[in-house]
Amino acid sequence: MYDVNAVRADFPILSREVNGKPLVYLDNGASAQKPKVVIDAVTKGYAEEYANVHRGLHFLSNLATDKYEAVRGVIATFLGAKDPEEIVYTTGTTMGINLVAYGWAMPRLEAGDEIVLSVMEHHANIVPWHFLRERQGVVLKWVDVDATGALDPQKVIDAIGPKTKLVAVTHVSNVLGTVVDVKAICEGAHAKGVPVLVDGSQASVHMPVNVEEMGCDFYAITGHKLYGPSASGAIWIRSERMAEMRPFMGGGDMIKEVSKDAVSYNDPPMMFEAGTPGIVQQIGLGTALEYMMDLGMENIAAHEAGLRNYAMTRLGGLNWLNVQGTTPDKAAIFSFTMEGSAHAHDISTILDKKGVAVRAGHHCAGPLMDHLGVTATCRASFGLYNTEAEVDALVDALELAHDLFG
Ligand code: PMP
Repeated sequence: MYDVNAVRADFPILSREVNGKPLVYLDNGASAQKPKVVIDAVTKGYAEEYANVHRGLHFLSNLATDKYEAVRGVIATFLGAKDPEEIVYTTGTTMGINLVAYGWAMPRLEAGDEIVLSVMEHHANIVPWHFLRERQGVVLKWVDVDATGALDPQKVIDAIGPKTKLVAVTHVSNVLGTVVDVKAICEGAHAKGVPVLVDGSQASVHMPVNVEEMGCDFYAITGHKLYGPSASGAIWIRSERMAEMRPFMGGGDMIKEVSKDAVSYNDPPMMFEAGTPGIVQQIGLGTALEYMMDLGMENIAAHEAGLRNYAMTRLGGLNWLNVQGTTPDKAAIFSFTMEGSAHAHDISTILDKKGVAVRAGHHCAGPLMDHLGVTATCRASFGLYNTEAEVDALVDALELAHDLFG
């Protein structure tokens, strides 16, 4: 039985007030709050176990290295990966996708080669591919979502032509919440010999992920959305793809030997991890993923499905609210605009006065905003500690905003 009140008690920040009201934190899509176990792991990492990793011949360095390296196995388990060596540490999904763009795609793609993308990608899964378009003449092929915000996997597969070298799609939209059938996309793309990169920044927070069952080639995750520290993260890279990659960033830790006129590289994954990493951040991420796995990803998904259904009903009852993305197959992420002249920023300011934290803006999804014909939306995004009472608080605050602006 999922006890949301016990879960809430694990998150110290949830008991604070904002603007004299109990905090209703619905900005999880941007970044999630941290449970005490993660805060404690970070504190302990600095207070008792800190030193630089990998090159130490002293006690603390070995301890920090062991703790830091052990997280690779935790992430592999979390993602259903076979081998911890397929996990590359990053600062988040942005870095993971840039690593693939620079390390895998740039050396392989030529002018006229294509990358297939959905129109609802986050800028982190767009701008690195624009670099290839600008610099190497690579063509970006866009696949639209339908009126409900759903992405038909067959449309993605049909967009793959003889020149397509990569499909890059999100698993869950950070704006609409749409869940994409990435397994079907992987099957279709692989039948045509094309690898698939999946942006798992949102999906990994809300549902069990198994990269082997999914069959993708690259799967990027973001630690700070997974209840872990900021600037923690990872990308899973299938070993065959990793073997095709050249290093992206150069520096310490990623080399074997360096002389004036030669350099040899460390074995993967360390070949892709230059410089001193976020040691304590990654240790905190390991604790966060263990926390989630202890709760059970299926249990988290079931709890959030209940919230999604309740929020869909309650928000759907406000006939002056335009909820974007009505496909039922979605995570508990709701973007909306209000009829009339109220701007998303004004609405979010009113909600904030009621202690309700949401995000307003383009959500780093320019092509999707163009597709929807809006410049900005408000977004309420739920996490494992949210409750139906918080959906009610959101609706009450929206009614106030509507009274003010309507
Ligand atoms: N992809 C998606 C779908 C996201 O929601 C985000 C974060 N908003 C990112 C990528 C980028 O994550 P980060 O900024 O942590 O690198």
